[in-house]
Amino acid sequence: MNDGFSRHPDFMGLIQKEFPLLYQQRHRRSLRHRERLDLSSVTRKNIYVLDTAIVSLGADLSDGRSAEVAILGSGAILGVCQLYRWSAPPYFATVRQAGDVWELDLATLKAEFANSPVLIEQLGFAMEHIFVQATRSAICNRLHHIDQQLAKTLLLYQDLTARHDLQVTQQELAELLGVRREGVTQAMGKLQAMGAIETSRGRIYVHHRQQLEQHACECYRPISASVHSSFTAEPMQAGVCRASQRRFKNTMSAADKAKTPEIKPALISALP
Ligand SMILES: [Zn+2]
Repeated sequence: MNDGFSRHPDFMGLIQKEFPLLYQQRHRRSLRHRERLDLSSVTRKNIYVLDTAIVSLGADLSDGRSAEVAILGSGAILGVCQLYRWSAPPYFATVRQAGDVWELDLATLKAEFANSPVLIEQLGFAMEHIFVQATRSAICNRLHHIDQQLAKTLLLYQDLTARHDLQVTQQELAELLGVRREGVTQAMGKLQAMGAIETSRGRIYVHHRQQLEQHACECYRPISASVHSSFTAEPMQAGVCRASQRRFKNTMSAADKAKTPEIKPALISALP
């Protein structure tokens, strides 16, 4: 049932406006690339609101293997289940892009939460987004080909970073998809052969987003829709695209540069 609330486009803006004590108590914390967060301990006293950091959520098996089910960026919230007095979150977070998070005091948030329908609803949206990704990941892992999964994941990365050059390694993609690195290399080769992407020195450059969209499984759409309806997801600007393209070209050989086409304005405007 809709009680008249809508998803707030800027959760920290809402906190600043409506919950001044909580806002005053906030702390900014920087996360390192590949840092692993045990959510049962880091969210014991605070919840995290992602700002510039990008993290993935996963769980460990007793035999040492692990799998990941969601990738989260600006506006996503970690530790919401602590508000419901659930047991420790049964998953971990891995930092996929170094950046900052906001720490909000859990005790103060709990006090506000009990009397604030708007806060209850906003935090519910944050949980819903994780749920959408987790359920889609379960379906995707069982029914969709790794080539489709890789294209989907690259699109999600691009949405979160708003860049055409993605600073993600094949090993990280293998961890995200729960497959061997060789499988990612093979799938990456197919995307590269069709001209959708290009790889260089641990970076992936997206040449033709539309080709990725055509190649990705249908799981991309509901996850993307959930991101855009839950959090701030600014459309990629032409200037950003071209600037990132220039940065990427500077890392390439002269021969590779000659092969790299400029991003077409039509493609930019087609970005979500
Ligand atoms: Zn899928």
